[in-house]
Amino acid sequence: MAVHFHEQDLPEGVTFADGPIAVDTEAMGLHPHRDRLCVVQLSDGRGDEHLVRFKAGSGYDAPRLKALLADPERLKLYHFARFDIGLIQAYLGIMAAPLYCTRTASRLVRTYTDRHGLKDLVKELTGHEISKQQQTSDWGAEELSEAQRDYAASDVRFLHALKEKLDERLKREGRTELAQACFDFLPARARLDLAGWPEQDIFAHDG
Ligand code: MN
Repeated sequence: MAVHFHEQDLPEGVTFADGPIAVDTEAMGLHPHRDRLCVVQLSDGRGDEHLVRFKAGSGYDAPRLKALLADPERLKLYHFARFDIGLIQAYLGIMAAPLYCTRTASRLVRTYTDRHGLKDLVKELTGHEISKQQQTSDWGAEELSEAQRDYAASDVRFLHALKEKLDERLKREGRTELAQACFDFLPARARLDLAGWPEQDIFAHDG
């Protein structure tokens, strides 16, 4: 179990086990048109995490990372996919789908709470504690601290376990197909964000 740090792309020879791959991103902020992509984190669920860091001025030329993220045969697991796939589309120029979103699944089954953050979800469904202390740190720094790297890695560490638990709940509540339809729509939702409809519900009658 280790955290592997890479600059600019995955190195040649890194392999991931078959099956879903957990993906997260860190950026300079929450606005893709303003705030650059700094880190992409990956885990195949077997215990290792890979961090790919992009420095200021990067051309985001990362063919191996892009091939993995755009692979139509590879399911990507996110927590709040809408943000990550929009950011990846904006900077890497690819749609990182098909996907599963643990936050969307949580919204569909954990209707007894409004706490759908990763920390709360991981705590309730797996019993693990993850720290969110570094969430708002400077991801554009020349050197990422040990604490930042650990934090970034922990954001993809539990997504496979969460999917397993959430799939059971979706099945129990009869919402598996609805969840899938939502996941399938998320690339369009992220494209609407980037195209200028970040807040509006285009399906609403008023507004
Ligand atoms: Mn994160």
